[in-house]
Amino acid sequence: MMTANRVRRKMPPGMVNTREFNKENFKSCGLQLIFHVMKEFKKEQNKLRTHVNEILHSIFFLGIIHKDSLTPEDIIPEKIAEITRQEFPEPFKKYKSHLPKRTPFSILLDIMQLTYGTKDKVLKELCILMEKLKFPYPLDKPANKNQRYYTLESTVICVCSNSQRTSDEYFGASLGCRTRGAKSIMIYSSCINTWHEHVSYAVMSFEHQPEGDSLQFHESLRCQAYFRDWKDNTYKERQPCMNCKRLFSLSAGTEQEHYPYGNCAETECLSKLLLNDQFMRENIKISHFTPDKIKMLKDCTRERLRKLLASIPSLSNMNNDDLPCF
Ligand SMILES: [Zn+2]
Repeated sequence: MMTANRVRRKMPPGMVNTREFNKENFKSCGLQLIFHVMKEFKKEQNKLRTHVNEILHSIFFLGIIHKDSLTPEDIIPEKIAEITRQEFPEPFKKYKSHLPKRTPFSILLDIMQLTYGTKDKVLKELCILMEKLKFPYPLDKPANKNQRYYTLESTVICVCSNSQRTSDEYFGASLGCRTRGAKSIMIYSSCINTWHEHVSYAVMSFEHQPEGDSLQFHESLRCQAYFRDWKDNTYKERQPCMNCKRLFSLSAGTEQEHYPYGNCAETECLSKLLLNDQFMRENIKISHFTPDKIKMLKDCTRERLRKLLASIPSLSNMNNDDLPCF
C-alpha cells in the first residue's frame, strides 16, 4: 500500500523538470519586468508610480496563485525586495487580498504607449524590449501547441480605433498568464471590475449561456491584431479567431482557438475604445441586453470566481468573506 502510494505520488522526471522550468520562468520574467519598470520609473521622474504599483501587484498576485505559491520574496532578491517595499509598500500589502485589474503585460503596453505614442513605434520598441528582457519562448517546439512554458509575455496584441478619429489608438493584450485557472480568474475579474459593461456582457453571455449575445460595432471600427514572430522578431498581422468573430462580429474568423472567451487581445482594446469613445458607445448594437440580465451574469461570474479563488491552496485559509476584494 505504502509503495503504491509512493509510486503514485512520484512524478515522471520530465514533468518535474517542466514544473521547475515553469517556476523559474515565472520568477525570471517577473524579475526582469520589475527591473525594467523600475528603470523607467526613475527615468520618467516618478510619473509612472501608479503603473509600477499596479504591475507589482499583478505579478505578485499571479505568483501567489501559481502552483508553487511564489511570494514576492521568491521573485525579488532579498535586498532589492526591501528597497522596493519601501518605495512601493502597497502591492506587498494587498497582493493576497485584492485582485489585480489586468495582467502585467497589459500594464507594460500602457507604459509603452505613454512613452512611444503611435502603433508603429510601440510595436517596434516592444520587439526591441522583448529581445532585451529575454523572456522564454512559450512553446517547446513551434509545432507543439500543447507544451506551453510560463512567460509573462502576451503573444498577441491588438490595436483598434474609430476611423473618424484615427489619432486615438487603443491597445490590448491577450492574457499572458499560462494556466487555465489564472486565465479564468483574470477573465472573471475583468468582467466584474475592468472591462466596459458591453464587452463584459458579451464575454459573460458566451461563457454562461448556450447562446451568447454578440456585439455589433459601427462600421467605422478599425481593429487589427498582431502576433510576435520569434524568428525575425517583428509583429505580424493576425486574423481574429472564431471566439472574437462570435463576441464582436469581427470578420474572417477562420482560425480555431481553444482559449476561453475574453482571452484575446481584441477584448481589452475594444473595451478601452468603448470606455473612451462616445460615438462608438452610442452606435453599438447588442441584442437582449437588459440591466437585469447583466446583473444575473455578474452574480454568476462572481460565484465562479469565489469558488476558483477558494480552490487555490495559498488562499485557502481565507473564508469566503475574506477572499480578494473585487
Ligand atoms: Zn480571438
